[in-house]
Parts: sequence; C-alpha cells; structure tokens
Amino acid sequence: TPRVGVLALQGDVREHAAVLASLGAEVSLVRTPAQLDAVDGLVLPGGESSVIDKLSRLFGLREPIVDRIAAGMPVYGTCAGLILLAERILDGLPTQLPFGGIDVDVRRNAFGSQVDSFEASIDVPALGEPAVHATFIRAPVVERAGAGVEVLASVDGRIVAVEQGPLLATAFHPEVEGETRFHRRFLDRVTGP
Ligand code: GLN
Repeated sequence: TPRVGVLALQGDVREHAAVLASLGAEVSLVRTPAQLDAVDGLVLPGGESSVIDKLSRLFGLREPIVDRIAAGMPVYGTCAGLILLAERILDGLPTQLPFGGIDVDVRRNAFGSQVDSFEASIDVPALGEPAVHATFIRAPVVERAGAGVEVLASVDGRIVAVEQGPLLATAFHPEVEGETRFHRRFLDRVTGP
C-alpha cells in the first residue's frame, strides 16, 4: 500500500485525500517535517501558491520538501501545486519562492480575470481515452518547458499538464471532477515498477 501525504497548509486538501483514499492509498496530512518523513509521495493541492509557500517556511517544511524532491520523491501538484513545482514563477509576489523540481516557467492567473474559471475537455495522450474533463480555477499556464519536461496536455496551444521524472503537475483540478487517472499515475510512481 503506497503511503502518501497531502501538504495540508492551505487549499483543497480534503478533495485530494478523498481521491487518494478511494484508490487504496494510505493517506496522511503533512504539516510537519516528521509527517513528511513518514510518506513516500506528496500531493501539493490547489489553493493560493504564495500562502502555501509562506506557510511552508513558517512550518519548517520548505527545506525538507526541496530536499525530498531532489532525492526523487514522487510529487503531484495541481494548480497552485504546479506553481510550487515550477523552477520559475514569472509573476510571483516579490517574496514568493517555488519549491522547484520541474524545469518550467509558469505564469499565475494566466487565463485572465474575465475568465476566472472554465471547464474544458482536453486530450491527454498519456492517459488514453476518454478525454479529461478539466476544471480551471484562476489557473496558471506553463510558458516555457525545458528539454527534460514531457508536455502531457495543452489547451489552445497553452501547456497545462507536465511531467518530469517522478514529478507530475496540472494547471487544472482533477480532484474536483471525479477524474482519478492523474492520481493513479502518481501512485504508480510511488509504488515503483
Ligand atoms: N491562482 C492561484 C495561485 O496563484 C492558483 C489557483 C488554484 O490553485 N486554483 O496560487
């Protein structure tokens, strides 16, 4: 049974925990370095990336998370979680830092203020059929993806899902849609071949 955590500082923590539990994982909420030590994979939820960043430093979690990412821990980030996994935030708050790990530049709230949220059906060849019904909520977009990054999905030519080794990230929120294939893919990374 994969032991995975959801970073539980802010954001849609419960939705992720519910999907992971429904897939048979042993799920715990991570708020301390000791709790991080006890898991083999981590989900970074949607929410507000600058707040999660700030709280991660306050809770002494930033360094341990960066270290675990460097050591190869599988991580899945949605929306704010994608921003946190990016190497560079093009329009972050002045003090805002990502954890990094995926060689991409992201732009926050990239779909414009007049379209705060929208839904789209998107093809994700790596997941096969059917298409993913994706919910975007003040979503970021990937503006540059490095050579080591696999682009999993785009909307109107804009990159919205990426993978680099054990790190997976989506600009949208499968956890609110009953879409379980991204979480399954993450759990497969945790379990290993
Ligand atoms: N706009 C948010 C941010 O910058 C992300 C929104 C989300 O996670 N739904 O962190």
